[in-house]
Amino acid sequence: MRAGEHTGGGYSLEGGCLCGRIRFRLTAPPIDGGYCHCTRCQKRTGTAASANVSVDGEAFELLSGGELLRGWRHPDGGFEKCFCGECGAHLLSRHPDDAGRMSIRMGALDTDPGVPLSYRQFVAYAAPWEPIPDDGLERFPESRFAARGRGGRA
Ligand SMILES: [Zn+2]
Ligand SMILES: [Zn+2]
Repeated sequence: MRAGEHTGGGYSLEGGCLCGRIRFRLTAPPIDGGYCHCTRCQKRTGTAASANVSVDGEAFELLSGGELLRGWRHPDGGFEKCFCGECGAHLLSRHPDDAGRMSIRMGALDTDPGVPLSYRQFVAYAAPWEPIPDDGLERFPESRFAARGRGGRA
């Protein structure tokens, strides 16, 4: 089940990398979104946290630049992090064995998908140099999926 609204089958939200050679499109609204404060996201982005939305991988369409899309997986596992091999912009992450599980980096989207960012995860590892905003979002010390009993999504 999905919280997003129906838009009559015409949903389309585009995004791309910094150099513009990779372009993609979502054909369904993102499922939900939030901020990740893990140390991998800090290193990956050079910032304190990464804003992401979860999408159904089937709703993701690569429009151009596929030959430039590069993926990297941490030796300890986790989602594959995908970025433009030309400009280095991070675009998405995906489950290595389940193409349906994908996250899009908010900054890669051209426009606001209209999905409220609702959580902050891995706050136990938050950068010491940037206080976590007191914004009332639900906070998870580790992955939000480690707290399913509190209403997390399967
Ligand atoms: Zn690029
Ligand atoms: Zn992270």
